[in-house]
Amino acid sequence: MDQVGDIIQNVMPEKKQDDKVMRLKQVKCVNCGNIVTFKPKQFRQYCTKCGLSIAIWRREKNEKDINCWICKDTGIVIYTAQIEGQIAEFAARCLCPAGADKGDRIPVISECLNAPPIELIKYRNKKAYEKIRAR
Ligand SMILES: [Zn+2]
Ligand SMILES: [Zn+2]
Repeated sequence: MDQVGDIIQNVMPEKKQDDKVMRLKQVKCVNCGNIVTFKPKQFRQYCTKCGLSIAIWRREKNEKDINCWICKDTGIVIYTAQIEGQIAEFAARCLCPAGADKGDRIPVISECLNAPPIELIKYRNKKAYEKIRAR
């Protein structure tokens, strides 16, 4: 797993203007520099030149681009909590700058008594990303 993670962090998706039209992603192999083309909905490929396994993120954002793992830079944290036997979904503002401009009507996550611990939210978000990466 470690090795795959290292590779992903070094893969730089080439930004091309016609990407949206073509819906193809091109990724440079970190091992040999070969350009590997990904078909739509294809997120793992072997380099045609050296055989290295290359994976790209399902989402545009890279792990290293995420500043805040609590809200994934959205400013809003969605969490579920059990209230009188019912699972309900709540929204809270994050503590980071992205959450600061969401308005005072939304409570801050640290003040939500029924919210899971912030460290747990972070951990879950990271785990969810690792799952995407492992596909
Ligand atoms: Zn290669
Ligand atoms: Zn945040």
